[in-house]
Amino acid sequence: MTTVLNAEAIGAPTQLMIAGRWMDASDGRTFEVDDPATGEVIAFVADASVDDGLAAVSAAAAALPAWSATPPRQRAELLRRTFELMTQRADDFARLIVRENGKALTDARGEVAYAAEFFRWYAEEAVRAEGHVQTAPAGTNRILVLRQPIGVSVLITPWNFPAAMATRKIGPALAAGCTVVLKPASDTPLTALAMGALLAEAGVPAGVVNVLPSRRSGPVVTAMLHDPRVRKLSFTGSTEVGRGLLQQAADCVVNCSMELGGNAPFVVFDDADLESAVAGAMVAKMRNGGEACTAANRFLVQRGIAGAFAGRLTEAMGALRVGPGLEEGVQLGPLINAAGREKVESLVAGAVREGARLTVGGTAPDGPGFFYPPTVLVDVPADAAILREEVFGPVAPVVVFDTEEEAVALANDTEFGLVAYVYTRDLQRGLRFSEALESGMVGLNRALVSDPAAPFGGVKQSGLGREGGHDGLLEFMESKYIAVTW
Ligand code: NAD
Repeated sequence: MTTVLNAEAIGAPTQLMIAGRWMDASDGRTFEVDDPATGEVIAFVADASVDDGLAAVSAAAAALPAWSATPPRQRAELLRRTFELMTQRADDFARLIVRENGKALTDARGEVAYAAEFFRWYAEEAVRAEGHVQTAPAGTNRILVLRQPIGVSVLITPWNFPAAMATRKIGPALAAGCTVVLKPASDTPLTALAMGALLAEAGVPAGVVNVLPSRRSGPVVTAMLHDPRVRKLSFTGSTEVGRGLLQQAADCVVNCSMELGGNAPFVVFDDADLESAVAGAMVAKMRNGGEACTAANRFLVQRGIAGAFAGRLTEAMGALRVGPGLEEGVQLGPLINAAGREKVESLVAGAVREGARLTVGGTAPDGPGFFYPPTVLVDVPADAAILREEVFGPVAPVVVFDTEEEAVALANDTEFGLVAYVYTRDLQRGLRFSEALESGMVGLNRALVSDPAAPFGGVKQSGLGREGGHDGLLEFMESKYIAVTW
């Protein structure tokens, strides 16, 4: 039996969702979900086994023929209905996210609105999976290109945006006519399970979406990737885990979309508007408490404005209210877990040893929960370890540069290439610099790039493929070419 603590407060299912039924793990195992603000257990969730993983693939495979043959308009209406239901329940979803993830309620509300938009956008895209026809260059025949759903898709999501990372995959997959097995992060399975319930309530047929929390993700995912019925892996998570999954996917040549880690530079030129650069820095750094793949990880600031920028950033960071995410007025909740906090602590300590200076924060408070204060580091040497790794916390290291060439070199000096931010009033320089950046996305005088209508994704070791926009739909489709003479 699955035990649930605080069932009413959680308000989410805690079993696996396979073929439209809620069930315990085949061997009855469960795992704990904790509240990062207190460290207390809030629920026990079914821990899917390898057998459960394969049962979910069977359910998705069984549902595929009917779902892929469902008229696009009908699939669109179901996605639209899911958008409406999620919008109606936005506050419940936001509170659930705070309970298992810890983020501040305002961040959770922002996430739910963003997450729901993927259902609306892909309701609109479901009827726009256009192919094309052309005359072969030799004039002998026609080239017809159809778009077809790729098939059963395994979706794996991280804990930092428990709702949005799931909807960004489910929306396009369902719009394309694919059926899915969603494996959420084990720190945050409740939001994904609630989403499964919501999709069923909206009328999505049994087996089209299966939700499979598991602490045994290694063997469960390996088994699914070696099942020839699985044709797609859409993964969001760390580059390290992504690399391993790409190797496994190679065995059966499974199509992969990978949204991996980032190490975003936030570049401020002397001529930038200081107010707007600091406001942007707070958004790029502190959205989701710094636990975002898009989080500004390195502040590269031109010498003439560096002192003023660091001073204003220190003030703004120091003024943030830290506390449990559900408390009124709180702007920064706890980090996800003890390991996440230890990583931030050790990166900050390392930077200080390497010569950086703290202007605010830097010491975790006593008491329960995994809190870490907003922190600014100045005089950070350009080769400091904190500039190479994703901090994934509320820490802003500031590095000074002199020339545009130096800034490009510093910005691109990373294996990652997800997003970069640039602040300058010189439009020519802004565009020239954006073009020179090795990143999939650029925020030019803007600190928020995520948009369901835009292609989100990285270059270099930040990933393969794009989510969002029309590109996101095509990730779940194959092009079928028919050569025909008429
Ligand atoms: P993670 O790589 O540890 O886990 C991601 C998912 O993979 C989870 O569901 C986890 O259970 C699963 N997983 C872990 N090991 C596995 C294995 N061996 N086999 C199969 N599945 C496995 O990442 P995380 O800590 O949950 O999330 C943070 C990371 O995600 C950061 O690096 C962040 O940058 C990245 N991220 C990227 C994007 C993007 O769009 N590029 C968005 C959000 C987060």
